[in-house]
Amino acid sequence: MRKIFVFLLCLFLSCNGYAASLINDTEVEQILSELVAPLAVAAKIPDGRLNVHIVNSDDFNAFVMGGEDVYVYTGLLTQIKSPDALQAVVAHELGHTLGGHMAQMSQRMSAEMTRAMIIQALGIGLMAIGGDPSLGAGVLAGSGGVAQQSMLAFTRDEERIADDMGVKLMIDAKLNPDGFIDVFNQMSNLTGALESRINPNIINHPLTSERLAHVREKIKHIDSEYKPTNAPTTEQRTEYELARAKLVGYLYNPSRVETMYPKSDKSVAAQYARAIARMQSGNLDDARVGTSNLIASNPENPYFYELLGDIEYQLGHYDDSIDAYEKSLSLTNTAPQIETALALVLTERRKPGDITRAIELCKRALLSEPAPLTYWVLARAYDDGRADWARAEYYHLMHQDDKAREYARRAKQALPHDSPEYIKSNDILNNGQ
Ligand SMILES: [Zn+2]
Repeated sequence: MRKIFVFLLCLFLSCNGYAASLINDTEVEQILSELVAPLAVAAKIPDGRLNVHIVNSDDFNAFVMGGEDVYVYTGLLTQIKSPDALQAVVAHELGHTLGGHMAQMSQRMSAEMTRAMIIQALGIGLMAIGGDPSLGAGVLAGSGGVAQQSMLAFTRDEERIADDMGVKLMIDAKLNPDGFIDVFNQMSNLTGALESRINPNIINHPLTSERLAHVREKIKHIDSEYKPTNAPTTEQRTEYELARAKLVGYLYNPSRVETMYPKSDKSVAAQYARAIARMQSGNLDDARVGTSNLIASNPENPYFYELLGDIEYQLGHYDDSIDAYEKSLSLTNTAPQIETALALVLTERRKPGDITRAIELCKRALLSEPAPLTYWVLARAYDDGRADWARAEYYHLMHQDDKAREYARRAKQALPHDSPEYIKSNDILNNGQ
């Protein structure tokens, strides 16, 4: 049962055959969406169409697909310390789209290469895996590795154009173009030792030092009157810190959490990361104390109540867990993951009214996000043919098509022919849609 909540935060979708998995989390998605919104306006992307996806991978990487879907890796999110730098990363990636590099790229690449791209490609990181230079050296320096790199990655010119366009986007968006300097400095820290051993003429990919110098030059020529009036607010900076801390607390082992947030660090973010890490390692009592302290000093933060709900649930305190999630929801607008978590605990407790409320919460969560776990909870709540339909949807989203069809067939046998669930089951059987 404790496993469920790991699953809840890190909802592993196998996304259209990509090799990496995505993370759904309301808190992290919320702040990232806010941070990229000015860039969407500057890039003339219609309101609400630029989506940020979080890829669960320790690589320092990001990329854009289809012009409106930005994929940011947890390895980059946890390393990048300023939201301005994150905005620069996204601006650079949008620069590839605006520069038309994606079209040329897809012509060059077969489907298999597209698959590899999610793991390896785009320009932002050479391959800073855990910052260990020896890991990357073989791939970059070996001839095979170089060939692969030059086919998969953007060219040197394309990277420079994307940087130029990215800086321009940052300025059009009234953001802080120094974010580019932050991100290249961060990359140099990760790849510096590696890059110093590489001959720049044998790789297609521009070195970080070269890009840093180029961007510095660009920024030098910005109008001295320029003011980044849309730069992240103090509140957004705090929220970004907390989102980073959350990812670190959930995804990294306790010793790594300790290194990034040592006990001497008394910041709210550090306390948050440590409380989550304690929960993850099963130290629930300490996790609860830490979380209660966070709530006492930040009573308006919905996500601290979310964490308390997770911990109380794992302690078996359903009433306290439900109270904490209800409080959390009362402080947020749309929070499909929290709605799903609450629905899950309600299906465990089963007091009068709990199941009705759980179904209502799942339906609301599914309106904002069709997540497999929500269907799974919904299946627990229903006790008729609709349960089989919900299981069919769950397996469909998990790309387990045989099971999806099996449950869809069962659902059809039990459901009235004019019910929406019957029709949806039919859809799953007909086209996997
Ligand atoms: Zn690039």
